[in-house]
Amino acid sequence: MLVTDLHHLIDLPQDTPGPARRLAEHLSNIVKAATAGDAGTAWESALPCRRRPANRACPGRMIVLHTEPRAPIRWRCSACDDAGVISNWEDSAFDLRRRQLTVAGAANEIVIPNEVAAALRDLRLLDTECERLVFRVRAHHNGAVLAATDDDLDELIGSVAAEANHEPNRRRRQRLDAAFDALNDAAADGR
Ligand SMILES: [Zn+2]
Repeated sequence: MLVTDLHHLIDLPQDTPGPARRLAEHLSNIVKAATAGDAGTAWESALPCRRRPANRACPGRMIVLHTEPRAPIRWRCSACDDAGVISNWEDSAFDLRRRQLTVAGAANEIVIPNEVAAALRDLRLLDTECERLVFRVRAHHNGAVLAATDDDLDELIGSVAAEANHEPNRRRRQRLDAAFDALNDAAADGR
């Protein structure tokens, strides 16, 4: 079991090697998912497992659980035995807990491909509300499930469009365009 103190993953030095950097990103994504979702129940997020047994990506997703502040976040893979706990996550940049109660409208459940879920996680200019939506995305046998109200979805589509418009990297822009199309189709279907 991997025991992590989140404080050790923040502000990694410039010369941190790639594998350590990717592990840090994986663990910070777990904190985002665990704090974006409901507290007290373990749920299967859309975050893929980082392991590659026999050089093939593990098909598992990260099951995350956060109970209360000062209790470590727990995570495990749905397919292999990868598991761990993360402490000192409270009030970090990855802590997406709601700061106040809000009245949520009726959410639509939108099934999106895994690549779209990954493109959404990769957005850099999201506000916290949208980031919470993106990291609450759950695993699904056909990809992933985004639960969003019509307003949430409009805002997310706007963020994806804005970022795609300003993206100089062609490959990244194509991923964002694909995410934009998938969300737009879902929005059109739901109305
Ligand atoms: Zn796994």
